[in-house]
Amino acid sequence: MGVWKLTEFDLAKFEEEAHEEWTHAFESNPSKLEKFYLTVAYPYPSGAMHVGHGRTYIVPDVVARFWRMRGKQVLFPMAFHVTGAPVVGISKRIANKDPKTIHLYRDLYKVPQNVLDEFTNPLTIVRHFAAEYQRVMTACGLSIDWRRKFITVDPTYSKFIEWQWKHLYEAGHVIKGAHPVRYCTVDDNPVGDHDLLEGDKAEVIKFTLVMFRYGDAFIPTATLRPETIHGVTNLWANPCVTYVRAIVDGKAWIVSKEAAEKLALQDHTVELREEIPGSDLIDKKVSHPLCGEVPILPAEFVDPDMASGVVMSVPAHAPFDYIALRDLQEKGKYKDIKPIPLIKVEGYGEVPAQYAVEKAGIKNQMDSRMDALTQEIYSAEFSKGKLFEKYGGKPVRVARDEVATLMIEKYDSKVMYEFDIRPVICRCGNRVKVKILHDQWFLKYSDPEWKKQVSDHLRDMALVPPEVRLEFDRTVDWLKDWACTRRVGLGTRFPWDTTQLIEPLSDSTIYMAYYTIAHRIREIDPVFLTPEVFDYIFLGKKSPDLPEKKKLDAMREEFLYWYPYNYRFSAKDLISNHLTFQIFHHVTVFPKDKLPLGMVVFGMGLLNGAKMSSSKGNVFLLEDAVEEFGADTVRMFLMGSAEPWQDFDWRNELVLSTKKQIERFYNTVMEIKDADGEPHDIDRWLISRLQSHITRTTDALTNFQTRQALQEAYFGIETDLKWYRRRLPENSDGSRELHTLCSVWTRLLSPFIPFTGEHLWKELAGEGLVSFASWPVADDALVNEKIELAEELLSRTVEDIESIRKLIQIKPKSITISLAPEWKWEVFSLIAKSGDRNTVIKEIMKIEAMRQRGKEATDAAKQCTTLIHRLPPNVVEPLSREPVNERAVFEDAQAFLEQEFGVPVHITDAESSCHAKAVTALPFKPSIIIE
Ligand SMILES: [Zn+2]
Repeated sequence: MGVWKLTEFDLAKFEEEAHEEWTHAFESNPSKLEKFYLTVAYPYPSGAMHVGHGRTYIVPDVVARFWRMRGKQVLFPMAFHVTGAPVVGISKRIANKDPKTIHLYRDLYKVPQNVLDEFTNPLTIVRHFAAEYQRVMTACGLSIDWRRKFITVDPTYSKFIEWQWKHLYEAGHVIKGAHPVRYCTVDDNPVGDHDLLEGDKAEVIKFTLVMFRYGDAFIPTATLRPETIHGVTNLWANPCVTYVRAIVDGKAWIVSKEAAEKLALQDHTVELREEIPGSDLIDKKVSHPLCGEVPILPAEFVDPDMASGVVMSVPAHAPFDYIALRDLQEKGKYKDIKPIPLIKVEGYGEVPAQYAVEKAGIKNQMDSRMDALTQEIYSAEFSKGKLFEKYGGKPVRVARDEVATLMIEKYDSKVMYEFDIRPVICRCGNRVKVKILHDQWFLKYSDPEWKKQVSDHLRDMALVPPEVRLEFDRTVDWLKDWACTRRVGLGTRFPWDTTQLIEPLSDSTIYMAYYTIAHRIREIDPVFLTPEVFDYIFLGKKSPDLPEKKKLDAMREEFLYWYPYNYRFSAKDLISNHLTFQIFHHVTVFPKDKLPLGMVVFGMGLLNGAKMSSSKGNVFLLEDAVEEFGADTVRMFLMGSAEPWQDFDWRNELVLSTKKQIERFYNTVMEIKDADGEPHDIDRWLISRLQSHITRTTDALTNFQTRQALQEAYFGIETDLKWYRRRLPENSDGSRELHTLCSVWTRLLSPFIPFTGEHLWKELAGEGLVSFASWPVADDALVNEKIELAEELLSRTVEDIESIRKLIQIKPKSITISLAPEWKWEVFSLIAKSGDRNTVIKEIMKIEAMRQRGKEATDAAKQCTTLIHRLPPNVVEPLSREPVNERAVFEDAQAFLEQEFGVPVHITDAESSCHAKAVTALPFKPSIIIE
């Protein structure tokens, strides 16, 4: 196609050019335009960014760029969350020269030795990585207003947090009390989700300890089903475990070693006495007033790290107990023990555990279905089970609490807290335990009134994708009180006890409001920043003697302009904490018209199929990716490989092919942008098609579907261009319409590949930066349905000819295209318009002319039905209204077809053809005869 002026495709050069122009370009101030304010969870900068982080920040950037081009005033700010203990732990480990930590920071994160030496100060670590994050985010082309950057230990920010907490406190949401929390005894600190290496899904469960008498001591067994005491046939103890005799609150208990340690954290005084091998307990007798005397049986499945390390066995109602007993009895032991049923539950026979195990055909304890079966019986008995008359006859749901209370009042029972999933491991490597904290401060998320306010507001919010709504509702439902202070770490001092700090998930809930004023509030000395000042800025409450009134007014104006935020972006693992917490805090602090409008929740990142994890070393650093592949490649790959809420998988070979796609796009635009031929019909087709690509890309991006948008904007247009170039008359380089196409194409792709976009925009002589160019708008007047259908028919026929040619493998001498008769078009139209495609054939055969055709007509109706199913709806719909003049289409394209296939092409009417195959011609699917 002619001679092209080609400047080389060089992403590094495009990046350098753009960075120069973007330095202050994305600083955003209130204006006359409508605003679009989006935020993403600020990062905790304790290590280098990997490509998983890349997507978290690039999705909002693509969205920001899209709305900016659509004429909105867009704010995309960023800050750094440095609150909490992790970084303190890291600095300690570096000071102690811990080899694993040093390796991570020196070799994986590539921190220079002289900087690493300074990492013994935790603030140095966060400052270093905050600067690194900003550098890498900038390298990725994020269109951030950096003037608003802050870190969460800035004194000004602390003043803002104090103001927030004053409101929480006054609303009665901050309380003090005793509470079981996850606790690390090495750090001597409660442990949040972010402090965990493993077990972040674990919940604290309340067990009842049933106290069995064993000589002068008690053996406690932990249970969630105290009412089943009547069916206990034995206890299980592990013969391979070491138990201890301990004096607990003045009485002798026998428990596992691990349990003794845990009891000491849960309001018990514990003095250890002698150790007892588990094997010593086997076959001894214990007793309880509610079940009499029972033996202790051996069981290696008993976990010493689960509650007391001894469990009671109820084989009639617990599948595990049933199977364990059956296994022993099959070896000829304990044959006199029989399950003792005590609960009647319909559909589960006399002995529910036995019934369920046998029905499922479970062979032994190792069967993977055991947990599900246990859960099934537990639920069935709880929801519809009733105790036998001799045990009181009450429903299980009532009896359970009554028996627990009775045991605590009369039979020495105690409560013990334990995790439902183990192990739970702290970042420091220590096992996390449950501790009852006294004088602990809590956010009272359990408050039903507060929950209701949150639920009410969530209903009004846009949640993307919609299916996350259920998870939000569930989180609001089960959220319990939250330990909101810590003794160790960085952060804001707790106003009512300055020995404590506000923990990280509690000082990061309304900072989206702080962004609106972050660059201005810095100009005021923090000592003047009283709660009254913030009350004025955010709530409009006037009070006498406010300092720097002019500056405060400017801040109030910014807040009123930007707030509430339009969308918050975050990963799906934050639904159960951060994303829900922030709604709790917003509804308390802000008025209804300043509450958040929407949230977009992301899927996770995989690296070569495995979960990305910094601590496990399975990461690919974002900066390395940008250097190796170019920022645009990284962006386009991350946006195109999955929708934001789906998980994505980073694979270098796929990323490489993305780079080739960008190069192809670049080269194509450079080749065709200066074409100046006269437009042909095919140009009208190309421009018509372009309108629907514009519409669909716009719709997709409005709905945050980055992958769908790229499919349309990149592949949709590329495919059209291929067809266009094939259809151009000989010796034509294309028409001047191609310049329009290049301009639209470049703009549609710019949010994804802004560096290449800026460069091409200049090549296209576009005005200003493409980042601020106007987003293309589809023009209905340019849509030509007729031409689109004609080309659709032609390209489908060309495909058919090609596949037949491959099939018959002879050198063709001619091609005959036979066209369907008018009456088949009538059949096609009737079927396409019909609501019920099952009965439509009968309807058609009621028409006299069709009935006369007999089998020929029913066959045609069946074939048309199949064809209509295969054609896209946007083709079927216009065809049902009006037939295409197929003869005209093929006669116009005759020269093209003969050129393509190198043989004469004949066009005939199927009904006048003598070929047997001609009768198969259908509307929009002519029969093809190759000879
Ligand atoms: Zn720890």
